[in-house]
Amino acid sequence: MRTADVVIIGGGIVGSSIAYHLAAAGCRNVMVLERESATGKGSTGKSMGGVRAQFSTPVNIQMSLYAIPFYASFEERLGYPCDYRPQGYLFCATNERHMAYLRANFEKQVALGLKDVRLLAGDEIRAMFPQLRGDDIVGGSFCRTDGFVDPYSAMNGFMAWAADHGATLWKNATVTGIVLDGAGVAAVETTRDPISTRKVVNCAGAWAAEVAKMAGIDLPVTPLRRMLVPSEPFDQFPHTAPMIIDMSNGFHFRPESRGFLLAWNDPEETPGFKTEFEPAFVEKILTRAADRVPCFADLPVNPKRAWAGLYEMTPDHHPILGEAPGVPGFFLANGFSGHGVMHAPATGKILSDLILEGKTDLIDAKLLDLARVAENRMIHETAVL
Ligand SMILES: Cc1cc2nc3c(=O)[nH]c(=O)nc-3n(C[C@H](O)[C@H](O)[C@H](O)COP(=O)(O)OP(=O)(O)OC[C@H]3O[C@@H](n4cnc5c(N)ncnc54)[C@H](O)[C@@H]3O)c2cc1C
Repeated sequence: MRTADVVIIGGGIVGSSIAYHLAAAGCRNVMVLERESATGKGSTGKSMGGVRAQFSTPVNIQMSLYAIPFYASFEERLGYPCDYRPQGYLFCATNERHMAYLRANFEKQVALGLKDVRLLAGDEIRAMFPQLRGDDIVGGSFCRTDGFVDPYSAMNGFMAWAADHGATLWKNATVTGIVLDGAGVAAVETTRDPISTRKVVNCAGAWAAEVAKMAGIDLPVTPLRRMLVPSEPFDQFPHTAPMIIDMSNGFHFRPESRGFLLAWNDPEETPGFKTEFEPAFVEKILTRAADRVPCFADLPVNPKRAWAGLYEMTPDHHPILGEAPGVPGFFLANGFSGHGVMHAPATGKILSDLILEGKTDLIDAKLLDLARVAENRMIHETAVL
């Protein structure tokens, strides 16, 4: 039977980053198993590619403080591009409660070492972007090193580097079972050949609960549809703009190619494996877009180019990372709740540390373990877009 030091289930950006970090730490016999004929067909290829350190919990801020410099130096480190564009994230507060929230987050971000975040007055935002309807904007926060990457390129870069350094990627290889013995994980069964291994990482994205069940683990990760609407070319708003978030309703947008990419978390969405785009969403989002950016009333949109993908949600909007309780050798890297692209570099480092050394210095790993759910130690992230 084929053997591997570590088997990674799922070849999206998270599995690829873990493969990279393991290979970079000297672990060369790594196998990545992807059920599709190509990687990136899960959430990674559907993502908006936003990366930010403006979070509300210290652990999410710490993960971004690893990720953003990593993306900034990606090509230097790996020799492949990830198209990091540091155009920033601008949160626009429309009431004093939101402003107090941004101020509290700002304090935490600065205390943890984020240098480029600043609070803005309403007038500054109106001067920066006179195209916004600014009458109700009381202020905001902006971090210039936040921005965007191309998730597909980053995923490919991670995987290519790992493959250049000994890792193997199997496509069209669905994991169908995990074999356990008295010592924990013993093998992985696939639609290709079985693989003997003592270490497996679940990187199955929105399908992670299914894979966890194969090892007898109940994983609270649920799929939630997210839809994005790209515009046709449009030049009445600057293309150097950051991701701009209207905190009154969560509508946000960023430049993409010669147009703009629009996003909004529809509160009526319900959990489930729904990946079809809902045409009625176009009108809902354009109403919010034109309300905050009056010139977007003329934004040309072709609904056929819009798409939907899945967020992998956890009850506290933090990922679940580390070895599963009671199943030695079965590791989890799941439930990114909308942040899997920006947190993939830190996740790769944390998982590689935990697998190879049994500990990590990047975060307090106990904060993100699976046991926190049963033990009521959850820490809630509220800066979820
Ligand atoms: C519309 C949208 C916008 C988003 N915007 C952002 C953003 O701006 N910033 C950000 O950081 N994140 C964003 N996200 C979230 C981000 O895309 C995900 O968190 C991230 O891609 C998760 O990566 P992953 O590798 O864990 O999962 P995936 O990319 O879904 O990869 C999982 C892989 O596992 C494979 N798989 C599943 N089961 C099996 C099996 N049994 N055997 C073998 N293979 C299997 C799947 O085929 C898939 O390729 C967005 C998501 C969506 C949908």
